[in-house]
Amino acid sequence: MSGLILVLNSGSSSLKFSVVDHSADRAVFEGLAEQLGGEAAKITFKTATGQREPQTMPGIDHHQALAAVFDKLSERKLMQDIIAIGHRVVHGGEFFNQPTLITEEVIAKIRACEPLAPLHNPAHLIGILGAREACPHLPQVAVFDTAFHQTMPPKAFLYAVPIALYEQHGVRRYGFHGTSHEYVSGETIKRLQLDPEDSGVIVAHLGNGASVCAVANGKSMDTSMGLTPLEGLVMGTRSGDIDAGVLQYLHNTCGMSLEDIMDMLNKRSGLLGLSNQSNDMRSLCELASTGDAAATTAIEVFCYRLAKYIAAYSVALERLDAIVFTGGIGENARPVRARVAALLKNLGVSLSDELNQENGDPRGVISNPQSRIPLLVIPTQEELMIARATFSSI
Ligand code: ADP
Repeated sequence: MSGLILVLNSGSSSLKFSVVDHSADRAVFEGLAEQLGGEAAKITFKTATGQREPQTMPGIDHHQALAAVFDKLSERKLMQDIIAIGHRVVHGGEFFNQPTLITEEVIAKIRACEPLAPLHNPAHLIGILGAREACPHLPQVAVFDTAFHQTMPPKAFLYAVPIALYEQHGVRRYGFHGTSHEYVSGETIKRLQLDPEDSGVIVAHLGNGASVCAVANGKSMDTSMGLTPLEGLVMGTRSGDIDAGVLQYLHNTCGMSLEDIMDMLNKRSGLLGLSNQSNDMRSLCELASTGDAAATTAIEVFCYRLAKYIAAYSVALERLDAIVFTGGIGENARPVRARVAALLKNLGVSLSDELNQENGDPRGVISNPQSRIPLLVIPTQEELMIARATFSSI
């Protein structure tokens, strides 16, 4: 069967879509509606040749953005070739360990996970319900960020709190970015010709959100995000790991409410909070290169936390065959990769400055041949993975 798969990622204030030609395994048309609900709302369509068509649409919401996407797909005569729709869903709790054909029961379970992802899951449901209404004849598949991590053993997913909190309320570590970790670790196994049944890979997905994952034989063994995406690495605006005692301290000494504290930890911390200037690694690298002390410190805290996690995750694996960088920062920020490699010298890691500058050899390798563990850069392909998973589920 050939045809097109529509991939939808209906986020909290954005709607991303991609039309993937299944037989060619590539996107033929894509777009992004941003700042939905605000005066600056706009949609940008992008063709396979990279041509962009931005359109401002002040005040449009998710429903109107979805309608505009379907109109555009009809206008470009793509609609008639779409055979299925794949939806990115952030939280599937313990309900889902693989991509799943959407039924009423699946919708109810995604809704049941709303308390775990209050910004994301309701927005995904708008996309799912809107697409069902517009295309009732098409099969739809949910692809969960959490599903890949359902193989984590209890020693990795349990918090050391009263066990009843897990048993009665599902308080545990779930992990996110599963689609990216699965794709990048799978590519690593292929590119380095590793034994799929006896391999260990650590993937660092470094975008605005960031997480590390230890993958043994293609299965997630541990990952740095937890019940929510707040845990783990330093991110664009999220703090990552923090002593829970800080919450009480801030409440008692500064009179901050729980809501204020959570807002601060999610939206005003991380690279933005430390640098007091930007959440954007590219800008911070530029500032650091001109001697800006705050930007330099923000990058150093980011790299140190990341290197610490990578070293720690060697414990989760029987063997360690590769460390791989992906996501906007992982794929582009050469100084970050260089600093992390330097911090990992005790693991026998040796970066090739030349390959690092070139973003890797044809396999993506950026380490020297004598490096005890190869380092790689592999661009993530979340949309393509969602399309592949959708096709296999229909
Ligand atoms: P998202 O998680 O929103 O998908 P991306 O994966 O696109 O984010 O990553 C965004 C991050 O990648 C930003 O911090 C951005 O500055 C960083 N980035 C992109 N290009 C570069 C570059 N050339 N150098 C350094 N950082 C970069």
